[in-house]
Amino acid sequence: MSSILVLGGAGYIGSHTVYELIETGEKVVVVDNLETGFRKAVHPDAKFYQGDIRDRAFIDSVFEKEDIDGVIHFAANSQVGESMVNPLKYYNNNLCGTEVLLESMVAHGINKIVFSSTAATYGEPERIPILETDRTVPTNCYGETKLSMEKMFKWTANAHDLRFVSLRYFNACGAHPNGKIGEAHNPETHLIPLILQVPNGKREFISIFGNDYETKDGTCVRDYIHVNDLAQAHILAMEYLRKGNDSNIFNLGNGVGFTVKEVVETARKVTGHPIPAKEEPRRAGDPSTLIASSEKAKEILGWKPKFDDLETIITTAWNWHKNHPNGYEA
Ligand code: UDP
Repeated sequence: MSSILVLGGAGYIGSHTVYELIETGEKVVVVDNLETGFRKAVHPDAKFYQGDIRDRAFIDSVFEKEDIDGVIHFAANSQVGESMVNPLKYYNNNLCGTEVLLESMVAHGINKIVFSSTAATYGEPERIPILETDRTVPTNCYGETKLSMEKMFKWTANAHDLRFVSLRYFNACGAHPNGKIGEAHNPETHLIPLILQVPNGKREFISIFGNDYETKDGTCVRDYIHVNDLAQAHILAMEYLRKGNDSNIFNLGNGVGFTVKEVVETARKVTGHPIPAKEEPRRAGDPSTLIASSEKAKEILGWKPKFDDLETIITTAWNWHKNHPNGYEA
């Protein structure tokens, strides 16, 4: 039986996808440089190689040793703020890494790839909900590199025997209901894990960035989608490619928006902690509202998100964070 190669399978969304793949009976090989991922997040039944996709000899050796049917690619840097102060790190890891990977895939005749993209490819949206065909003008370097990666796939697919699916995630959140894996970033920049640091005693209050957006309570609106639902979409996307379908791009979100204040309020309810909040100036590069239309993924991939309720999503996140206040570190 051949395997699925998961690049970045020790990271947040990668590790959840590996768990789902193994639960559906797939054989999985994980590659991760462990720069931001955690060895402990990798499912014990996955075969693990520590290495960097920018290292051509290394990635060639994985394709030579393993029988790989398709690739799921999460191996990239993903912090908006960092990408603005250190753009070349993003060009190097995200774009050069993908270029080396594609060279190696083409050389080894590996012709299917599912790729982790982002709503940050859209920038300030021209309408809500956002469709895959809408304008893409990223407002930060992270989104720009992801859009460039999509274009690299497009032109490579045009020239070679290779097909891709790009999945544009909205706000990934939550944790595996089995409690074994969850969200851990160092440093943490995402709203829900930062809020949950307050009831965990790791932070005094949550900062609310901006209270003068044109939204119902002045704070930014985002579409929060559970990480296990994202993981399922990768499995469906690989099936779609296995059936011989053409390259495609899909949004992944719940199609419902919540303000920052609503997220904080829901976390208070879930944790039973007052979670003090402090209103602060806007964070650079934040669009006011991002909500996905995921009709295309539902229709073509048959994707059915299960976690459509914010309280349930935050409950799974809290279940992980309260038992792992230091993430994967002891
Ligand atoms: N946010 C906030 N306080 C924080 C972290 C984030 O108010 O400490 C806001 C942020 O400005 C954005 C929303 O929460 O409007 C979601 O931010 P996150 O970084 O989680 O995801 P993004 O939408 O940037 O991908």
